[in-house]
Amino acid sequence: MTDTAVRTPVTTAPMWIGGREAFASDGATIDAVNPATGQVTARFPHATAADVDAAVTAGKRASEEWKRTSPEERSAVLIALADVIADHAAELAQLDVIDNGSPIREMRRDAGMAVDSLRYYAGLTLQLRGETIPTTYGRINYTLLQPFGVVARIIPFNHPFMFAASKIAAPLAAGNAVIIKPSEHTSRSALRLGELAAGIIPAGLLSILTGYGHTTGDAIVRHPAIRRLAFIGSADTGRAIQAAAASVAVKHVTLELGGKNPLVVFPDADMATAVQAAQRGMNFTWQGQSCGSTSRLLVHRDIYQPFIEALGSSIDHMRSGSPVDESTETGSIVNSLQFEKVRKYIQIGQDEGARLIAGGITLSDGEFAHGYFVRPTLFADVDPDSRLAQEEIFGPVLAAMPFDDYDEALRIANGVRYGLTASVFTESVRTAHRFARDVEAGYVWVNEVSKHVHGTAFGGVKDSGIGREEGIEELISYTQPKNVHLNFEE
Ligand code: NAD
Repeated sequence: MTDTAVRTPVTTAPMWIGGREAFASDGATIDAVNPATGQVTARFPHATAADVDAAVTAGKRASEEWKRTSPEERSAVLIALADVIADHAAELAQLDVIDNGSPIREMRRDAGMAVDSLRYYAGLTLQLRGETIPTTYGRINYTLLQPFGVVARIIPFNHPFMFAASKIAAPLAAGNAVIIKPSEHTSRSALRLGELAAGIIPAGLLSILTGYGHTTGDAIVRHPAIRRLAFIGSADTGRAIQAAAASVAVKHVTLELGGKNPLVVFPDADMATAVQAAQRGMNFTWQGQSCGSTSRLLVHRDIYQPFIEALGSSIDHMRSGSPVDESTETGSIVNSLQFEKVRKYIQIGQDEGARLIAGGITLSDGEFAHGYFVRPTLFADVDPDSRLAQEEIFGPVLAAMPFDDYDEALRIANGVRYGLTASVFTESVRTAHRFARDVEAGYVWVNEVSKHVHGTAFGGVKDSGIGREEGIEELISYTQPKNVHLNFEE
C-alpha cells in the first residue's frame, strides 16, 4: 500500500440493493482491516433483516421480467459484465489484496477466472434444455426447467472477487435474481462488482449485501422467499445453515465446504514433479487458505525421507513479504482469528510429537510488524489420527506421513470426515485408476494438483459438501424441473 492510500480518509462503501447504492437501514457499519498492516481501510454496511427483505423484494420484481428474456439476451448481459470485469482486473486484484492479505500476483488471476466463468455460463444458456419422455402415441410428456426467482449465495474470504463474480453467473443464466453476501473480512471487491454491474445487469437482479454471518447471513438463510441457497465456507457453518434453513421451510441448500485433502505419492512417481506438486497443492501462495489444499501429504516409506528433505528445503525458499510486492510468494493470513488458529495448530503439532521440518514461526519484525505472517510450515511423521492430520486448519501448515502399501495409503486418505479433493502421483495406470475409484473425494487429480477446469464439476463428499459447481450441473441446480403431461389424442 502507498503512503497516499494510507492517508486516505476512511469512508463507508455502499451496498447494492435493487440496482442502487444502499446503507444499512439502521446505519450500522463494519470496519475493513488490512491484515498485512493492521489498518482500517474502509467501512461497509452491516445489513439488517429489513435490508435483506428489500433485496428480496427488488429481486422478485426484477426476476419476473428476467425469466421472460431469451437465453441470448441473458447471455449478452453476462458477456458484457465479463468484458467490464476484464477491463478492471488489476484494480479488483488490488482490492482483494488490501482485504485478505494474499499476494498481488496470485490475486490477479482471480478476476480472470471470474471472467472465464461468466463467459462459460453465457455460452451455456442455450443448453438449458428439458426432455421429452416417451408416453403413448397421442400423448407427450416434457420437462420445463424453471428458475427459482430469488436465490442467495454466501461466500468465504479466500477468493473474494472470484467467488462474488463467478458465482452470480449460473443463477442469472438460469433466469434468477441473485443476492451475494461476501465475507465480512473481504467485502470490498464484491461492492465494486455491484458498482461495475449497475449499468449492465437490470436493476434488482443483483444485490450485494454485506455483514456478519450470524446476523446478515442468518437473515438471508431464514428469509422465507429465498428457496435456493448456495453456501461456500466451513463445514460447521454449512451445517448451521442447513439447520437454520430447515427451521423455516424446505429449501434447496448446496454446500461447498472444507477439506483435509490427501496428496499421495507412490514410490514409482517422478519425485521432482511430486515435490513441486506437494508445495503447490498446499496453496502456500494463499497462505494455505484454500478448500482444495492438499494439506495431508502421504509418501511411500521407500522415498519418504529424501522427499521430505527436498520439500522442506523448497518450502524454506519461499519468499514471505508484503502482499502488494510483486515478488512476494506468501503473504498475510486473513485476520487475527485465523492467525491465532494457525498458531494453535503449530503448537498442537509440536505437542503431538510431529517433526517440524520447515516454518513453524510467525514474522513480526520490520514490514511484518503489524500483520499476520506465518512462514510456510511442514510437519513430518504426523500421526494420521492426530488433530494435525484430522482437522482443517485453513492455513499454511502441511502434515506429512509415510505409508507402506496401497491399502494403508487408502485407509489414511479416507480416514477423515472430509472428502473434497485428492491427488495421486504414480506412473502405474493400475494404481492411478484404483486410487481414483477408491478414494472418498469429489475431485481427483492424477499426476497433477490444484487445477480447476471450467466445465468439470467441482464439489465434495462426506462433510465437504453437497452439490457440484463449475459445470453445467451448477446451471441446472438453479432451476426446478416441471413435467408437463399433454394429451392430444383425437
Ligand atoms: P465461514 O464458514 O466462517 O464463513 C463463510 C461465509 O459464511 C461468510 O460470508 C460468513 O459471513 C458466512 N456465515 C458465517 N456464519 C453464518 C451463519 N450462521 N449463517 C449464514 N452465513 C454465515 O468460512 P470462511 O472462514 O470465510 O472460509 C473458510 C472455509 O471455507 C474453509 O472451511 C474452506 O475450506 C471453505 N471453502 C470451501 C470452498 C469449496 O469450494 N468447497 C471454497 C473456499 C472455501
